[in-house]
Order: sequence, then structure tokens, then C-alpha cells
Amino acid sequence: MNTSISFSNTLTCAQQLDQQDSLHSFRDKFYIPIVNGKECYYFTGNSLGLQPKTAQDYVLNELEDWANYGTEGYFHARNPWVDYHDLFPNLVADIVGALPEEVVVMNQLTVNLHLLMVSFYRPTQDRFKIICEAKAFPSDQYAFHSQVLFHGLNPADAIIEVGPREGTDYIEPSDILEAIKKHGNETALVLFGGVNYYNGQLFDLKAITKAAHEIGALCGFDLAHAAGNVHLELHEWDVDFACWCTYKYLNSGPAGVAGAFIHQRHIFNSQLPRFAGWWGHNRETRFKMGKEFDPIPTAEGWQLSNTSILSMAAHKASLDIFAEAGMHNLVKKGKHLSAYLIYILDQINQQFEEAVLKVITPINDNERGCQVSIQLKQHGRKIFDELKKEGVIADWREPDVIRVTPVPLYNRYEDVYQFGCILQKLIIQFSA
Ligand SMILES: *Cc1c(COP(=O)(O)O)cnc(C)c1O
Repeated sequence: MNTSISFSNTLTCAQQLDQQDSLHSFRDKFYIPIVNGKECYYFTGNSLGLQPKTAQDYVLNELEDWANYGTEGYFHARNPWVDYHDLFPNLVADIVGALPEEVVVMNQLTVNLHLLMVSFYRPTQDRFKIICEAKAFPSDQYAFHSQVLFHGLNPADAIIEVGPREGTDYIEPSDILEAIKKHGNETALVLFGGVNYYNGQLFDLKAITKAAHEIGALCGFDLAHAAGNVHLELHEWDVDFACWCTYKYLNSGPAGVAGAFIHQRHIFNSQLPRFAGWWGHNRETRFKMGKEFDPIPTAEGWQLSNTSILSMAAHKASLDIFAEAGMHNLVKKGKHLSAYLIYILDQINQQFEEAVLKVITPINDNERGCQVSIQLKQHGRKIFDELKKEGVIADWREPDVIRVTPVPLYNRYEDVYQFGCILQKLIIQFSA
């Protein structure tokens, strides 16, 4: 893409931006859902990424090997299942900014969050608080709450939520750092999202981690909306642990297998409490079926069960596309594409005497990824329902927010332009 073209709200401009986009051809690697007989405008890559056309072959290969080998596939499949997860660390490490030994693909997101909290939320009498964002994704809230109860503590005392100031849409970054300081001596863990699922705010992971460490707490992140969307340097930033799902930006398919990161300084520590399973045990002696757990000194040591091959195969199809496109290029295009969306939305507002919508995602591109959350002033739900009939797949959040996410792998500038036209038409229609 060429940032030298200045934006205008015209089809010509959108098409020019597409022509100059070096990632343009990646769209052909995905199935675009058909609505009303034509390719839809798909803006929910933050919810369920589209299917890579190669995914079926990757999964079929494993089904074939299962058919041909049965249990022998563990050792004789084209990619032997016993070591199948070895295909992943290098690819995943590039996406989250980690060393290969710091990442593992396993389980589901909420499961991984619990497993990592077992190791890294270890409250004492004096240090027991968790500092998190207000309105975290519900599953995360339930996880925090139940972990606190599990340790015999009171969630009302132990969970400290940092939220936006009265009358504002997102959290003032300095408020997070101040909350961490304020609860310094009592805080065991700082646990934030990378990007908030509702308003799309990207947090400063590096600054939050530093502030947490300065008060002697550990720091982890739920990267559900960040992995595959924004630039991450988990190792460099010294993050203690992180987890993410892969079915959103990472296109691994419904409820695809999830990821986890554990910083290098923790992976050798066999004294860390953890819930153990046989797939985390030393590979040399795993099949001796001994009694003593001997954890693998990498993130693999947190694995419980043997690898979910079919789900991993679909994930691999997408990871290979990420490797080809390059995370750096994707982040750059994603920011530019969403900047174009924000520009178009501003142009819509200018057609009316009073603003008809408000972007509640930070405009500054250091504070967001691809997602743009739009608050509609009037008729939000009705407009959303009509958008769908016009071939726009976006996502509705009560009471009045539409989340629109153009993703760099398969969305075009033209999608953004067409969305703007349809939205403006509907707003005029409903306000008439
Ligand atoms: C999507 C999402 C989840 C979903 O959890 P699963 O365990 O994958 O069902 C959890 N937390 C956050 C922050 C999310 O965005």
C-alpha cells in the first residue's frame, strides 16, 4: 500500500489504494462468504476469521493419514502426530514477538487463561490483588472471579478494575499505570487484554508490564483481539505470560486451538506450580509412563493433552499464509485500512448538521488495531439489521455499537468505501 495517496471518499480512490496494496492478492487465498449472490463485505475477522482455501487440504491430509495408518499415524503420518506441535513455535513466535521455546499451541483460550493463572496468580496474605480492565470480555471476568474464589479470597477486595473516566469512551493510559502504583504492595498480578473487544482500544503492553514489575507484581495479557492484529514483542517487553485464541484474526476456524506464551525466565522453573499432564512431560521418558512429572523446559511443559491434530492442521494453513505475508506488512496495512474507515466515517458525519455517529475506538493508530467501533446516535439496531440485508457482515454490541473490522489479509479498501456508502444511505433513509 502506498500512504502517499491522500484519502478521498470515492470509488476511484479506494480502487487506487487497492491497486497499490502489495498484499492485495492475499484475498484470493480465502473463501469470501456469498450474500445475495455476491461476495459480502466481511468485517468480522475479529470474531471469526475467514477460511483459507488451503485449510481443507491441510485437514484432509491428516484425515487421510488417519485412514491409512490408524494409530501408526502418531509416528508414520507425513507429519507424525507425536511431534506435530513442533511445526508451530517458529510461526507463532513471529506473530507475537517471542522466542520459539516461549510459545505453545494448545487447548482453548479460557482454558489457557486458567492454566496460566494457576502458575502466575499466587496470592499471599499481603499480595492478592488482580488489576484488570473494566468490562473485560465476560469469560475473562468469570475466570478472574473464580480464580480468586478458588484461593479463598473475596473478589470484591481482590479484583481492581480500571475503566474510562466519566463521559469518555476508553481508558486513559496513564490511569492504568497510576492504578498499578496505587495498589502496589497489594498487587499479585496485572492482567489486561491486549486490545479491548468492545471499543478496540490497544493498550501499551510494554508500559503496563514495566509498571507491574516495578511494584513487584507479575504481568500477563489476554491477546484474543491482539494476536495477528497488532505488533507484539512479548519477549522484549518482558511480559510474564499471555494467551490468545486463533479463530479471530488468525483464521483457524470455529473454536480452533489456542495459544500461550510463557517468558523464557519462567520456562525452566520446574518449581512453578502448574496443573500437569503427560504432554508436558519430558519427551524422552514420556512413554515410560513413570510416576514423577518431569516438565519440558519450554512452554510445552504446560501442555496437558496430546495434540488436537485436525484443529492444529487448520491453524497451520493460516499460519503459513501469515508467514508469507509477514506480520510487519499486515500490521501496517491494517492500520492504514482502518484509518481509511475512520476517514470515511468522518466524511459521513460531515454530510449532516449534527454528528450521526461516533467512533469510540481511539483514533491514534498506536492505540488501536484494525477494529473500529461505531456508536450510532439513532436507530442503531435497525440500521445494523439493514446492513446485513445489503451484504455487510459486521457485529452488533448492545446498546448501540457496531464493530467493523477490515483486516489486511482479505479486506479491500473498496470494501470500506462500499460500507460507507451503504451506511450513509441507511442513515438518511431512517432519519427521513
Ligand atoms: C473471544 C474471547 C474469548 C473467548 O474465549 P474462548 O475460551 O475462546 O471461548 C475470551 N476472552 C477474550 C478477551 C476474547 O476476546
